[in-house]
Parts: sequence; C-alpha cells; structure tokens
Amino acid sequence: MNKPQQFVRNGKFQLPSAAELGFDPLEMRRKYDFERDRRLRPDATAQYQDIDGDLHRYNDDPHVTEQIERAAVQETVEVAILGGGFGGMLIAARLEEAGIHDFRIIERAGDFGGTWYWNRYPGAQCDVESYIYLPLLDETGYMPSLKYSFQPEIHAHAQRIGHHFNLYPRSYFQTQVRDMRWDDAQARWIVTTDRGDVIQARHVVISSGSLNRPKLPGIPGIRDFKGHTFHTSRWDYDYTGGSPAGKLDRLANKRVGIIGTGATAIQAIPHLGAAAGHLYVFQRTPSSVDERRNRPTDPAWYKSLTPGWQQDRNDNFTKLLVGVQVDEDLVNDGWTELFKSLGELLDGTGATNLTDEELKQLGEILDYQHDNRVRARCDDIVKDPKTAEALKHWYRPWCKRPCFNDEYLPTFNRPNVTLVDTGGKGVDRLTAKGVVVDGVEYELDCLIFATGFEVSRATYTHQAELEIVGRDGVKLGDYWANGMRTYHGLMSHGFPNLHHMGFTQTGYTPNFTYQLDKQAQHLAAVFTDTRNRGYTVLEPTLEAEETYLRLVTAPNAMTDYLANCTPGYYNAEGTAKSNNDGFLQGHYPEGGLAFYEMLARWREAGDYAGLRVR
Ligand code: NDP
Repeated sequence: MNKPQQFVRNGKFQLPSAAELGFDPLEMRRKYDFERDRRLRPDATAQYQDIDGDLHRYNDDPHVTEQIERAAVQETVEVAILGGGFGGMLIAARLEEAGIHDFRIIERAGDFGGTWYWNRYPGAQCDVESYIYLPLLDETGYMPSLKYSFQPEIHAHAQRIGHHFNLYPRSYFQTQVRDMRWDDAQARWIVTTDRGDVIQARHVVISSGSLNRPKLPGIPGIRDFKGHTFHTSRWDYDYTGGSPAGKLDRLANKRVGIIGTGATAIQAIPHLGAAAGHLYVFQRTPSSVDERRNRPTDPAWYKSLTPGWQQDRNDNFTKLLVGVQVDEDLVNDGWTELFKSLGELLDGTGATNLTDEELKQLGEILDYQHDNRVRARCDDIVKDPKTAEALKHWYRPWCKRPCFNDEYLPTFNRPNVTLVDTGGKGVDRLTAKGVVVDGVEYELDCLIFATGFEVSRATYTHQAELEIVGRDGVKLGDYWANGMRTYHGLMSHGFPNLHHMGFTQTGYTPNFTYQLDKQAQHLAAVFTDTRNRGYTVLEPTLEAEETYLRLVTAPNAMTDYLANCTPGYYNAEGTAKSNNDGFLQGHYPEGGLAFYEMLARWREAGDYAGLRVR
C-alpha cells in the first residue's frame, strides 16, 4: 500500500510521478486497452453455443441416484417458489417464520442447494467467507468448519436448512415448471410442470438462479470430438473417479483438456493437474488469482458470538464494499482489502475536496498497484518465465470475478501440466481427436468445458427454461426482450404477484446470499401485511417501473469502468455501453446497503407506493 503522502501534498491532491509509483499509469492503461481490444469480437455474446437439442446432455443431472416416482398434483397454495437453491430456501424459511406455511418449492434438481447442488467439480469452494455466506447460521446453530467452505459442506448446509424448516415435505424435486399463466379472474398464477402438476398460487417467487444454464464455446467441430466431454457444473465422477475433494484416480493415464480459466477452472485445475496423465489448460484470458488464506474456524470465537452476529457481520462487509468506513473490518479478507484501499488512503490526509475525476484517477492507480502485486505472484510461484508471463491478467479487478487460490499457480510447475495460451483468441476448433490452437492439434481423451453459463445471450425465460404469461397474455420474454424492466428489481408491470429474487436492478454486493436473505425478509413481510389487510393483487404501475428503471440504469461510476473492461459476461462480452447492458442490467446506484434501507422505508410507509393494490 502506498503512503497517503504520495497522493496528497499540503492537503492537495497530486498524482505521483511514474518514478514514485514504479510504473507509468498511462502505459498501464495502454496495455490494458491493447489486451481488451484484441479480445473484442463482433459476435460478442452470440459467440457461445446453446445447449439445446443434441447438446442437451450437457445440462442433464449427473447427480441423481434415483428417479422420484409420484403422481401429478392439483392444488392451490398461497406461494409457489421456483428454485430450491439458497434463494428459494430463504424465502420459504422467512415465510415459515412469518407464519405462512402454505407454500411449495419446485426444483428441477434432485435436492436443495441450487448452484451448490450442481457445481460439484473438484475443489469447488465459495470465495465469500462462510460466516457471512452460509445463510441462517444463527437459526440453525451451525458452525462452518473453515473460513471459506467447500461445496460438500455448503450443500450439506442447504440440506440442514431443508430439515430445520421442514421444507422437504413441501417441495417437489426433479420437477420443472414449464408454464405459468396469470388468471386475472381468480387472481392467481396457474403453474404447470413437466410432471403434469397444476398448482394455483396467489404469489409466485422465482429464484431460479442467475448462472444456472451451462454454455459452450461456439467453435467449429464442437460435435466432432469423439473423446469424453462434460461441463464443470455437471462433473462426471464416473469417468474421472474421486470426489469434490479430489483424488481423480481414473484420470491417471488420461490426456485431459480443460477450456476456460475463470473462477471455476481455477479451483478445478489443481485437482486435474494432480491426477491427470497430462493436463492441457486452454486459456483465452487469465484470471487474477490472489492468495486464499483459508483457516479453520476457532470454536471458542464462534461460541462467543451473540445472536444477531451474522447480520451485523454482513452489514459490516456490505458497508465496506460501498465505501462506508467502519471501526473494524470484521471479515478482513481479499474482498474488503480491495474496497478499503481508497478510503484508507484518503483517511486522515485532509484531502476531502477531491473532484470525481481525481477520485477516478486515484482508483485507477490503486487498481494497478493491486494488479501488480497479484501479477508478481505469477513470477514468484511459476518457474517457467514464459508460462508465468502468460498467466498474468491485464484488466482491472472488477472486470471479472477476482479469484483466490493457493494451489492454482503452483500447478503449472508440474511436468504433466501444459498451459496452452491462445493469446486472447480462444481455441480454434475441435476435431475428432482433440483441440486445435494455432494449427496445432492437442490429442485428448477427455475435454472439460469450464466455459461458464448463459447470461446475456439468452432471454430470461430461455435461461429459466419456462414460459411466463402475465396479464393480457403478455409473455415476460417479450416484455423483457430489450432488457429487464422491474420495480425494485422484484416485480414487473403486467405481471401481478410475480416476485423475482436475484441480482438484477437490486442493490449489489458480492455476497449473493445477503441479497437473497434481505429480499426474502422483504417479501415475507409484504406477504404477511397484504394478507392481514386482505389485499390479493399487487402490481407495479408502469409509471413507477419507468421511474425506477431510469434510476437504476442511469450511468454511474461502474458504467465507464465496465465498458472499458476486457470482454466477459459482466459487460456483455465488451458490448455494454449503458448501465442496462451486461450481467446486472442496472443496479441501485448507492449499492446493497442503501437499497435494502430504501426497501425497509418503503415497507414502513405502508402505502405500497408504486404498486396498484386490490
Ligand atoms: P466464466 O464465464 O467466468 O469463465 C468462462 C471461461 O471460459 C473464461 O475463462 C473464458 O475466457 C473461457 N472461454 C470461453 N470461451 C472460450 C473459448 N472459445 N476458448 C477458450 N476459452 C474460452 O465461468 P466460470 O464457471 O468460471 O465462473 C462463472 C461465475 O461463477 C463466476 O464469475 C462467479 O461469479 C461464479 N463462481 C463463484 C465461485 C465462488 O467462489 N463463489 C467459484 C466459481 C464460480 P474469457 O475470460 O476470455 O471469456
């Protein structure tokens, strides 16, 4: 960390020279621009291959041990919940606490867990601290074993919540909602499933996940490869052997390739490197990989925590991430370090009158300093200088998910691991035998796609794999064809009593479960209040929706930042020009904390501002 005096002299902001910094920020920016530009491609989000049709097997559930047999149901409930991940479970738990027991969870998978049900690849771990990420720790009394939990523990916690709140008897697994229609006369949604169920629900809450549908690169030959293939989110342990803890013993004599070096691949590659006969890592853009610094939970510390601690810790984390200074950084990790630096730098310098432009420049320099430190780890750890160089990321920290892992970089010192850097182009094509890059064919027995999930290329309903027909027969996919339109990120005009949980147009923080729980608490409070007052229909007015949309899509500090980023799903592969493009498609300008405070004020006012209520 640089000393504040470097930037503030006699109470006045002044940029340090390149000599003082040890690098030239302008040159750095040129390098970042160069690396971004050579990755931009005209097909942008259309570059990916849909997994419909004959590629649908990439989406099949490899974790199901038995098919659930049951008769189709016809029933009427207060709330139908789509999705049994943490979002769906949180709304169910908060409804249960509020005394609303009449709900059903409908889930495609064979169990609870959502992303942690599907993503069982070796090394799968949550990079947000377990004490704030694992929901309902206070309520279930569970102590996570580590500061950063691995997938089996997270999935087991989802099951624990399912038992604690008695959710299993009120859930339909291996069941997919295919169609939902609003029946205005009855003021209910008619929800139909692939099991022939017909469920009439006063309210529907959708928490179907934002990164749930695997995507593949749209490269020639994707159907030609004759070896074994699968996507990381549908890991095939029958083929690899081992478990999420690693020890992939069936790969010992295999030539294995993995395409992608994002947050998922970073965690799986150390296990593949340890097990495979030979591993080829096909890289288009390197990830920024910082230290993990994991450690076991201290039981004495955990025991000393008093009720409400998890909420306080989450608030503390979220405050830091929106630039609010706190007395103590409770989480104190790579995330909070990234956010704290600017505040710490200015604190006590007396330089309170910086212009927005000066703050922007400072932020940029701090990002470069951070990136330099992360890049230096490649030189320190990776022995082959060419490989070390190729593993360095050249984009600012929030352009892609920052990664934290202690085993990833050392994996490239193994003699059986080869980094195939494609210089930002991506792999050329697949053949029957393997992968081609720059005219060289890499023959493989197994090819693993760590190529992420459908985000911006699909319409919402395609991603969620269902049709939603609102009032007057309007389809949600059509209504959102040019981007999501919501009021508070939660409801849309023309779709009464339909509630969305997720990132979009809400208040962002990297701890997704914090957002989901806040949304669940909000919805449970609203449902309780409407029930008490005898309201049956809630729907945002068009005017309120448009006013809100203007607020969340107005340009803000992140708009330029993301527009200048290397391509990725955050910025619609480099095409995002406004705050309504890319992954978040708009977010509350003042961040997570302010957003949920605003929702609390809205509830307290009790006038349902912006909604038409009957
Ligand atoms: P990503 O979309 O982040 O990464 C996909 C990878 O595939 C990128 O490296 C991409 O390169 C690469 N790729 C795509 N097409 C090609 C091609 N034609 N040739 C070569 N490479 C290609 O998916 P992930 O599954 O890694 O992560 C998705 C998200 O899941 C993360 O951003 C994070 O939010 C979440 N996650 C969270 C974790 C946690 O700890 N909480 C852990 C793991 C994932 P390029 O970068 O050039 O596009």
